[in-house]
Amino acid sequence: MSLVCDVAVAGGGAIGMASAWRLAQAGLNVAVFERDRLGAEASSAAAGMLGAQLEVHEPGPFYQLCVESRERYPAFAEELLAETGIDIQYVRSGILKVAPAPDQAAALQAQAAWQRAAGSRAEWLSAAEVAHLEPAASAGCGGLWLPEDGHVQAPLLVQALARAVHQTCQVFCGEPVLAVRCMGDSVLLQTPARTVAAGALVVAAGAWAGTLLPQLGVSFPVVPVKGQLMAVRPRGALRLQRVLHSGEVYLVPKRDGTVVVGATEEHDAGFQRDVTAAGLAWLLDAYCRAVPGLADAAVERTWTGFRPGSPLGQPVLGALPDVPVHLAVGHFRNGILLTPITAELVCRSVTSQPWPVQWQAFLPQARGALAGQSRATPATAAASAAHLSERR
Ligand SMILES: Cc1cc2nc3c(=O)[nH]c(=O)nc-3n(C[C@H](O)[C@H](O)[C@H](O)COP(=O)(O)OP(=O)(O)OC[C@H]3O[C@@H](n4cnc5c(N)ncnc54)[C@H](O)[C@@H]3O)c2cc1C
Repeated sequence: MSLVCDVAVAGGGAIGMASAWRLAQAGLNVAVFERDRLGAEASSAAAGMLGAQLEVHEPGPFYQLCVESRERYPAFAEELLAETGIDIQYVRSGILKVAPAPDQAAALQAQAAWQRAAGSRAEWLSAAEVAHLEPAASAGCGGLWLPEDGHVQAPLLVQALARAVHQTCQVFCGEPVLAVRCMGDSVLLQTPARTVAAGALVVAAGAWAGTLLPQLGVSFPVVPVKGQLMAVRPRGALRLQRVLHSGEVYLVPKRDGTVVVGATEEHDAGFQRDVTAAGLAWLLDAYCRAVPGLADAAVERTWTGFRPGSPLGQPVLGALPDVPVHLAVGHFRNGILLTPITAELVCRSVTSQPWPVQWQAFLPQARGALAGQSRATPATAAASAAHLSERR
């Protein structure tokens, strides 16, 4: 079978789906190829924090990217609700990060200072003020209060995006993109079921991007970083009011009354999906120290996911030089936060709109993602071509 489309998107996580939706809204004929189910991987596993200020430890373009994406969330959530009927439960709850020891207190005070200088709201709270703001928390040596950070329900975000994509794009689930080859102004893709000729390709394959990038002459290393999480349901009247980070784990109180607790960060686990005894023991121990009053909460669910790990934990976004291929990979710990702005930038890139100067730092060439050239190396191009012709 063969298919012709304006844009093919490889990967149906939050990043691929939001990008495909924006591209379809721009009038393009978009086909989404997903190895498994839409949103099956990191995007539905995520805790859903919009931790623009929590997660970034120095000023610069990445901080700006995170803050700007967070600021898009209210409108993004409303648009998804209007288009799909699904409420992604966006909450600007604020995030409180407690300092368990004096050296962490100094680091968090410094973070508050540079974030305020960058125009954000960030407050240092004494231990007494922490106890007042969040009575369930161990107050430690004080804490950093970030009132503008928040969270969404990641599984609902994925459901809403999947519906939006089904309404506006062609969707091929259970169809991994196996091989890609640039042919002048178009890209040829091979899936197990068909050959695809696309005017452009968006690579949004999450932690699996490493199977496609080398075929395009891209050397940007994207590796899986496993995370284990659990959801607990408090029993008594004590409730967390806002997202809490204890310095070890984070706790995200969801509208359904559960608290999502995460997460391990395992760099050597590859794609091993099990919830492990050691992972769970670490989560439980850190959780009980963070909120001792909630130690009798019922554990409702445990699960794992694979973050798309990347150098500096920052994504590579935008067009490869000279070929119609656009990257949206390597979002590591912040892909949910960065979904709205990534989709917007992918749409700009594919439709050849000017690339805003402040986001040049994320272009493939700026991130050192090109293996000395923009096109597939002769060896990989030959391999892709062989693969493509075998399948035809
Ligand atoms: C434990 C954990 C907690 C997290 N918490 C947060 C958080 O609180 N806030 C936040 O902002 N981020 C969080 N993240 C990070 C966030 O989940 C990721 O950065 C984001 O989901 C990445 O989105 P993605 O679409 O690139 O990847 P994914 O959601 O993994 O999607 C990639 C998709 O591509 C498909 N695919 C792979 N190869 C191919 C191929 N060859 N052809 C077709 N399809 C392919 C996969 O099947 C997958 O569905 C967390 C992640 C984890 C694991």
